[in-house]
Amino acid sequence: MYTLVYSINDEKEPSTIYVNLTNACTNSCIFCLRTQKDDVCGREMWHDDKYTLDDIIEQFNNYKNCAKEVVFCGYGEPFLKKDMMKSFCEYLRKNYPQIKIRVNTNGHANAVYKMNVADEFKGLIDSVSISLNSDNKKQYNEICKPSIDNAFEEMKKFAAACKNAGMEVNMSVVTDFDDIHKINVGECEKIAHSLGAKFRNREFIKNGY
Ligand code: SF4
Repeated sequence: MYTLVYSINDEKEPSTIYVNLTNACTNSCIFCLRTQKDDVCGREMWHDDKYTLDDIIEQFNNYKNCAKEVVFCGYGEPFLKKDMMKSFCEYLRKNYPQIKIRVNTNGHANAVYKMNVADEFKGLIDSVSISLNSDNKKQYNEICKPSIDNAFEEMKKFAAACKNAGMEVNMSVVTDFDDIHKINVGECEKIAHSLGAKFRNREFIKNGY
């Protein structure tokens, strides 16, 4: 079975556990780790989405006694497996209510499903980290190469929807990933704050962690 649940270091009892639900994404970012390597800490990250909730739970059981936070992340956009994510969130809430749940996302979910996905996850997700990546649509499209229309605006609207659903919202940019794209970090921070989000400037790390 491929990697669905993993940690990113060799700690015996890692407190942050990651979930790799899909390799699909509505972006194709220049700096995406998927274009650079096939593994995270030696764990193969590619898979075919053919798994069950029980497969996730079986892998999660390796960490059930140490996990303090579960992060939906991995090699793709977690919300593209919305129903599976919801089922696992519900399982965690029922069996491990003390565990915090975060989703790292490109923020396209409401646009993809044409509904308020943030509301659907109200009370299930504690926080979201949304990739803002630029202060303007033109540069966002150059960097992220989205496959959906109006991705930049939709991503910002999703941040506001998550805030309205009571989640903590963090928005981030990645800088220094090439010599061509200069990110206006100050303007990005203003956008994040205007949406009620916290802001983080993540320096590009070649191996991603
Ligand atoms: S949004 Fe994330 S998974 Fe999707 S292409 Fe960009 S970096 Fe990769």
